[in-house]
Order: sequence, then C-alpha cells, then structure tokens
Amino acid sequence: MRVTAYAAPAAGQPLAPTTIERRDVGPNDVLIAIEFAGVCHSDIHTVNGDWGPQPFPVVPGHEIVGVVAEVGSDVTEHQVGDRVGVGCMVNSCGECANCRNGDEQYCLNGMVGTYAGTDRDGSTTQGGYSTHVVVDADYVLSVPAGLDPAAAAPLLCAGITTYSPLRRWGAGPGKRVAVVGLGGLGHMAVKLAAAMGAEVTVLSQSLKKQEDGLRLGATHYHATSDPDTFTQLAGRFDLIVNTVSAPIDVDAYLSLLAVDGTLVNVGAPAEPLSLNVMSLIGGRRSYAGSMIGGIAQTQEMLDFCAEHGIGAEIEVIAADRINDAYERVLASDVRYRFVIDTATLR
Ligand code: NAP
Ligand code: ZN
Repeated sequence: MRVTAYAAPAAGQPLAPTTIERRDVGPNDVLIAIEFAGVCHSDIHTVNGDWGPQPFPVVPGHEIVGVVAEVGSDVTEHQVGDRVGVGCMVNSCGECANCRNGDEQYCLNGMVGTYAGTDRDGSTTQGGYSTHVVVDADYVLSVPAGLDPAAAAPLLCAGITTYSPLRRWGAGPGKRVAVVGLGGLGHMAVKLAAAMGAEVTVLSQSLKKQEDGLRLGATHYHATSDPDTFTQLAGRFDLIVNTVSAPIDVDAYLSLLAVDGTLVNVGAPAEPLSLNVMSLIGGRRSYAGSMIGGIAQTQEMLDFCAEHGIGAEIEVIAADRINDAYERVLASDVRYRFVIDTATLR
C-alpha cells in the first residue's frame, strides 16, 4: 500500500511530502489509520545526523495514535475500529532474557525502532508522519477511551520515557524529584511524578515557564541560569530526571542529590558528558540512564494516565508546519509538544 508521508531526504535537510510503501498486513499485523503523530526531539536529533548516519529518506514519528483499519488472521488483542498507539519500538526478538523480562527496548538482538530501523524482514522502518502504518500486533498499545487522542500521542514516547525511570527509582509520597528541562519529556515528567505523589521541582533555564510548571504539578521552580539555585538546593533531591537535549554540567546537578540519590539521564545529546567521580563518591550517589520502557509498562503508563486524567499539553499542527515546529523545539519554544494532525496529509 502506497501512503502519503513527510520525510527528511538527507541529513539536516527540511522535511518534504513524499509517498512510501507499507507492507501487506501479515497474520500478526495491524494496519493503523494514523490520526496524530507527536514531534519528539529525537526525531530532530535523528534527521540532523546527531546520532550518526541514517538510512535516508527518513519518515520520523514514534508517538503515534490512530484507529485500527485492518487486522491479520492471528490478531486477537486489537479489532477494527479500536483506538491504538505505537511508540518508539515496532519489533524485538521476543526470546532473549531482556525481552522475556518485559524490557524489549533492551533486546539483546536489537530492538527495531519505529523509524530508521531495520525490521526483522530486512526492510527499513518508516515512522508516524504518515497516514498509515503496519505494525506487529505485539507492539501496538490500546489507548484507553478516556484519553484525548491528540494529547495521548506524546505519551507513547515522552510519557513512557519519563514514567519508566520515575517508577524504577521509586517516585512517590515522601520523595523529592527534580525535573531538568521543561520541554516535551520534562512536562510529562512533572505531571507523572506529581500524580505518583512525589514533591516535584522544575529546574529550567529561566523562570519564563514558572506559572506553567506550577500548574502542571510542580511545587517549586528554579532557574538554572541563577547560580544561587545550586547552593540553595544542594543535597536536596532523591531523584533528578534530566531531559535536556544538550550537554549539562553533570557535577553541578549531582551536587543537588541527597545521599543515595540518583541522577537519571533520559536526554540524549550527541556529545559525551563528563563528571568528576568525587560527585558520586561524596554522597553514595548514582548516575544512570534510561531508554523508553517495555511494552507492558507502556500499557501500564497509558492506563495510569487515563486513571489520573493525564495527557500532554499540545499544539496541534498541520503537516506542512513540521519544519517550523523543529525550529521552535530547537529554540526551547515548545509548549509542550507539537502534534501533527495527519488528516492534513490526506
Ligand atoms: P524538548 O521538548 O526540546 O525539551 C528539552 C528541554 O531541555 C527544553 O525545552 C529546555 O527546557 C531544555 N534545554 C534545551 N536546550 C538546553 C540547553 N542548551 N541547556 C539547558 N537546557 C536546555 O525535547 P524532548 O522531546 O523533551 O527530548 C529531550 C531529550 O530526550 C532529547 O535529547 C531526546 O532525544 C531525548 N529522548 C530520550 C528518550 C529516551 O528513551 N531516553 C526518549 C525520547 C527523547 P527549559 O526551556 O525548561 O530549560
Ligand atoms: Zn521520542
């Protein structure tokens, strides 16, 4: 099936309309008519070549919500007409220790990314800036009825990427959690950590978005451009989730952790980060990373969001605004996720 899409033709080039081929619906496949696709900073890193060479043309998009249009003969979980979602991953081996443990994103044989990935049949995957996609049913999530479909799209990456480390490091009542960077991931981290019962602090470059941060669920908001922030908050946090897409001063943020606290990086800048191990030693602190989340946990996160009435704060755009949206994300001028209305592609 030939479908309309927006693709980056080469590294650093603006995205442009094109058509791509979607595979026939196999026995365990689901054909999804895409309604909304979120714009993640990872899409921008990928098409700008920050993370190395890519199989251009690349159709980005791994925050997909749509409606099931067709299912293969073996599919029992999803039916035509169901509202479903697809995140960053469309396949994995299903057999290694990590897949069996529900950590498909760390598949020992390589998870298959939703775009710019090599699928298990050898084809190159293409993402959600498109009208339709065919995905193995095991990687298709159910979007609960209570969620607005446009606001649910960013949950498939920004939501699970922050939910997973918040759960792993025990965000909840009595825990002080800081979120660095109030963008797509950061604003979801604030909402989710607050819903889990943690005391949330936003650490943003400036105080420009303070009112929003407090409305989203933070109790405290500080500007990292103000050196006083780092003296005032020294030793304060149990967990810091760093969502910044650029390098940070790791030692400065580690100094904000309490004894046994953890700084977890979900932000994925191209450049290596360095730290002084004394920042860890002098407080038994940990520095960690986390990548999206497994399929079962992604469903758990969607159900949690439905239960707590959580969606992303979004600006819905027509597909021909994608390149402007990229510029605005790069300028930290996103409030707080752009979502493409794929009806504008038809
Ligand atoms: P985003 O919407 O651009 O948010 C990033 C935020 O970081 C900005 O809004 C800004 O917040 C802050 N920031 C940007 N540049 C900065 C700089 N030079 N110095 C200090 N702060 C800066 O991006 P996103 O979509 O949330 O993605 C964030 C990062 O996470 C990206 O690197 C992305 O690739 C990565 N990511 C990782 C995973 C994973 O599985 N680990 C999944 C998805 C995305 P303020 O204006 O509040 O300072
Ligand atoms: Zn993403």
